[in-house]
Amino acid sequence: NERLREELEFLATRDPMTGCLNRRAFYARAEPLFRRAREQGLPLSCLMSDIDKFKNFNDTYGHAVGDLVIQQVSRLLKRAVRPEDVLCRYGGEEFCLLLSGMNMTQAMAVAERIRRIIEAEAGPAIQEVPNLCITSSFGVSQLGLGGSITLEQLIDRADQGLYAAKEGGRNQVRCLDLVDDPVV
Ligand code: GH3
Ligand code: MG
Ligand code: MG
Repeated sequence: NERLREELEFLATRDPMTGCLNRRAFYARAEPLFRRAREQGLPLSCLMSDIDKFKNFNDTYGHAVGDLVIQQVSRLLKRAVRPEDVLCRYGGEEFCLLLSGMNMTQAMAVAERIRRIIEAEAGPAIQEVPNLCITSSFGVSQLGLGGSITLEQLIDRADQGLYAAKEGGRNQVRCLDLVDDPVV
């Protein structure tokens, strides 16, 4: 019965294609984590990532290969996160990761490490298509000492960083300048 309960809980909270948390389950975990970080003045960072030129994979090799690309990228993301972090499939080929206890500098380093891992390992993991080149872009934001922003704003800032990474040429990590939320 306990195992059945766990299986049902898993199915209700996961995206079936990747096994990552779905958006609803993500917010259910993110909100208390965010509240605690704000109340206790603990660092917390958000990372948004999106596969580069993903539509090309679908258009060139078909949706089945597109799905494999998403699955391989999510596998590498899952491998990189700690139990205290919260990872979800935020949209089609977009992932959101909350990094507990990490400030911007640390989160940027994590994002850069994951970016390199995806660049090196995601393509070669897909044996159906030789020499596939898969990269992702990243935006990073942090809840600073001021702690004055909301969870939605934290995610939105990471998304703006992601947009800057795309504009800057993709396969890179960007963050917005910190204006009113000083670095922890
Ligand atoms: P960019 O580098 O700017 O992110 O370009 P992009 O091509 O990755 O971005 P765009 O948003 O144009 O393309 C995303 C595509 O992802 C569009 C949609 O059809 C596809 N997609 C969304 N979910 C899935 C899925 O579960 N499987 C597959 N195969 N494709 C998906
Ligand atoms: Mg994309
Ligand atoms: Mg996208």
